[in-house]
Amino acid sequence: MAVVWPQAKSDSRPQSGRNRTLARDSDMQVHKIKAAVLRKRGGPLKIESLEMEGPQYDEVLVRIVASGICHTDIGFCEYWDKADGPLVLGHEGAGVVVEVGKRVKGVRRGDHVVLSYQSCGRCGQCRRGRPTDCERFYEANFGFARLDGSNALYRSGVRGHFFGQSSFATHALATERNIVKVSKKLNLEILSPLGCGLQTGAGTVMNSLKVAKGASIAIFGTGAVGLAAVMAARIVGANPIIGVDIIPKRLKLAMELGATHVIDNRRDKIVSRVADITGSGVDYVVETTGSEEMHGLAMDVLNPRGAVALLTGESGAALSEGRRTIGIIQGNAVPQLFIPKLIALYKAGRFPFDRLVKFYDFSKINAAIADARSGATIKPVLRISKEGFLEGKGVAA
Ligand SMILES: [Zn+2]
Ligand SMILES: [Zn+2]
Repeated sequence: MAVVWPQAKSDSRPQSGRNRTLARDSDMQVHKIKAAVLRKRGGPLKIESLEMEGPQYDEVLVRIVASGICHTDIGFCEYWDKADGPLVLGHEGAGVVVEVGKRVKGVRRGDHVVLSYQSCGRCGQCRRGRPTDCERFYEANFGFARLDGSNALYRSGVRGHFFGQSSFATHALATERNIVKVSKKLNLEILSPLGCGLQTGAGTVMNSLKVAKGASIAIFGTGAVGLAAVMAARIVGANPIIGVDIIPKRLKLAMELGATHVIDNRRDKIVSRVADITGSGVDYVVETTGSEEMHGLAMDVLNPRGAVALLTGESGAALSEGRRTIGIIQGNAVPQLFIPKLIALYKAGRFPFDRLVKFYDFSKINAAIADARSGATIKPVLRISKEGFLEGKGVAA
């Protein structure tokens, strides 16, 4: 399973047997970083000083300026087990490139980048341009190691590489496959959540379901992912666009961002309200809540030949009268194509996702997680470093 990285052409020094086997870059530096470490189920995360080794040939060392918090981070906190050992989470990073490995061509020091999910870049799916279907998607994103099995934080007894980044840290190692270069004129702090939650919600509507103009759609759960789906549904001209949630404040925001109708699931019956609005059912449901009951209700409000998109990690294929359930990962988005598109829509005022964001200092990460959990904040974004600092030698941003 270990991948042997090819030797860089410029590296003609004699290699020891161990080095040849691991193909480790013997020039790899050690950087002192700060990261929020999970050592206990449910947290709290503690900001600690760690040593990080890198970058490898294909890696990009990024000074993280900001990182969104996504419900997948929270899920990993809640299900953490002693056997997992200490972990660094975070997978919506944005920052500035401080160093690149020898084989990296697409970015250089000083470039601004948004980080997204990781893929292997070598399997059949990746080669066909479908990195969300990567055959090694699970290990690349949830393996807490590089795909060659190594871990840049091993000196500190901690594991990183979550989604190929672990962005709850002052610095992260990514690769060209999960970074998207963005204009230096844009505010990096606001761009960070594009890498997962917003890409997932918008990509589901625009790429996976390919919702057409005039199609009817209901979005169950109007958190960050659901609201990105609402904005995307408006962009493609869906009608009606029905937002469903139990928090009135979020439903109000859904109306402002493009929903034509909202249903408060605590007060109203979803099936009869949808029938009132559409005269029948809806063509699409985007289900973001992860509840089985809501999945059942989604099938109940679906028109024949309609589709339910499940965005909570499971995939299923319940069929009746041609109604489909589709498990969707990252909105089937190729980040390097889709994130620039979302940024263009944002600049045009058509994808105002900044309205979902509330900023927190890195030191307040546990409060930010608590607010995401309670629903008080839709998309917390941590401000991690304004001024770059690396305590190790040789690198400064
Ligand atoms: Zn996420
Ligand atoms: Zn792959």
